[in-house]
Amino acid sequence: MSSLANDLSLLSESSRRYFGAPHRHFIGGQFVDSISQEEIPVIDPTSGELVARVPAGGAGDIDRAVRAARKAFDTGPWTRMTGPQRERIMLRLADLLEANATEMSEIESVNSGRTLLSTKAFDVDLSVDYLRYMAGWATKIHGQTLNPSVPYVPGGKFFAMTVREPVGVVGAITPWNVPLGQAIWKIAPALAAGCTIVLKPAEQTPLTALRFAQLVAEAGVPEGVVNVVTGYGESAGAALVAHPGVDKISFTGSTQVGRLIGEAAARQMKRVTLELGGKSPMVVMGDADLDVAIPGAAMGIFANHGQNCCAGSRLFVHSSIYERVIDGIARIARTLKLGPALSPDTQMGPLISKAQQERVIGYIRSGVTDGAKVIVGGKALPGPGAYVEPTILTEVGPAMKCVREEIFGPVLAATRFDEVGEVISRANDTTFGLGASVWTESLNTAHWFVRQFKSGTVWINTHGVLDLAVPFGGIKQSGMGHELGEEAVNHHTNLKSVLASLKDPS
Ligand code: ADP
Repeated sequence: MSSLANDLSLLSESSRRYFGAPHRHFIGGQFVDSISQEEIPVIDPTSGELVARVPAGGAGDIDRAVRAARKAFDTGPWTRMTGPQRERIMLRLADLLEANATEMSEIESVNSGRTLLSTKAFDVDLSVDYLRYMAGWATKIHGQTLNPSVPYVPGGKFFAMTVREPVGVVGAITPWNVPLGQAIWKIAPALAAGCTIVLKPAEQTPLTALRFAQLVAEAGVPEGVVNVVTGYGESAGAALVAHPGVDKISFTGSTQVGRLIGEAAARQMKRVTLELGGKSPMVVMGDADLDVAIPGAAMGIFANHGQNCCAGSRLFVHSSIYERVIDGIARIARTLKLGPALSPDTQMGPLISKAQQERVIGYIRSGVTDGAKVIVGGKALPGPGAYVEPTILTEVGPAMKCVREEIFGPVLAATRFDEVGEVISRANDTTFGLGASVWTESLNTAHWFVRQFKSGTVWINTHGVLDLAVPFGGIKQSGMGHELGEEAVNHHTNLKSVLASLKDPS
């Protein structure tokens, strides 16, 4: 085993035991054997070694889980509970996740290749906070009272209101980049709204979702409310989307798969939330505070190894400061310590898989073939781990594949600009519209960019910061609907309008 592989003896006893345990679907409040006999090998991306096996569930397993979720929604206690009752159970779930933080974070780090610092912050701590935040919403879901005039009924008296009702059974399909975090982003608002859920985690990273299911049972969430079926996208994922017992699909992943899911869901008029790809621009103006902009832009692209849908993968720097900014980001890229997730001095782990490593290297090569210059990084590390060096490409043109397509790796495409009119049209020249950022000390310039960027989120003097209370969603090919904040709760409800004709008492 090379020094670039995880030393699994560093794991706590409970995590080690969990890797070795048999893994099964969680359906109707119990762990059950898979109908499908196939298995998915779960790989540690630092070493390429097998760490666990989970069932490769198929349409039969999905059907069983959807039936359990349907029954729980149609006749079970969860939807009929008061807000405070649901809130109490969600808070208990948050407490249990917090109490198991070390184990969760260790499992996630080994499975996804990300440092313990990262999995603790984004998969565990943020999820604990989000469960608590959403538990609060369970008591605050409300409609409106309205003032209808009904002008075509002279003398009529009407009263109107809207009520929000849970949307039903939610099919949640999640990616591998922040596995538990993404699952909780889908589970928490669904629970708050009174929905029931079938979760299909990414085939590469199914382990924390199954461990979380144990906590769901322990917290007293009624049976059938949360179900987890592991499996591949084309089989289990597609079966979940096509199942007539599912009322809403909440998907995070590639635009390509999102399009398939959107089409399939539309056939049954299912509600959909699609959180898809991005090619987010970062603009550094000549008046930016470079002590903030340089590390901010570096983290904008290199955080989570660039495996972020909102990664700032296109950088536009004003000509007056271009060399200083590029040198500064290159210096950070050179000093980022690549290594196994479990090593305390690692700053960047491997990508999720060898396949992803090859894909990212392919994009770097295509950039070079098209005339881009690699000024730092550009290579995969030799060995079984899926490592790719943090990379900066300059001399890039707007038509290049590395500038137009989402790479989902630590690769920055950087160019210079001279005026704002030019940079905004280049920044918006993308099929995606997830995030965009500007670094400037001018309030007027910042707000000009806020109005001009065609994206779901705009960051000022930072990039990629997400918060529980702030809705997150894309426009254009980056998706539809929002996660996080009140919007996420509303997306799990149907709005019902009520109109009453009133008469005065006789
Ligand atoms: P990535 O390229 O990041 O792996 P994908 O969009 O392929 O992203 O995968 C994200 C999630 O979508 C995973 O859980 C995967 O299993 C699932 N998935 C992939 N293909 C399909 C499909 N045809 N139908 C439903 N889910 C799918």
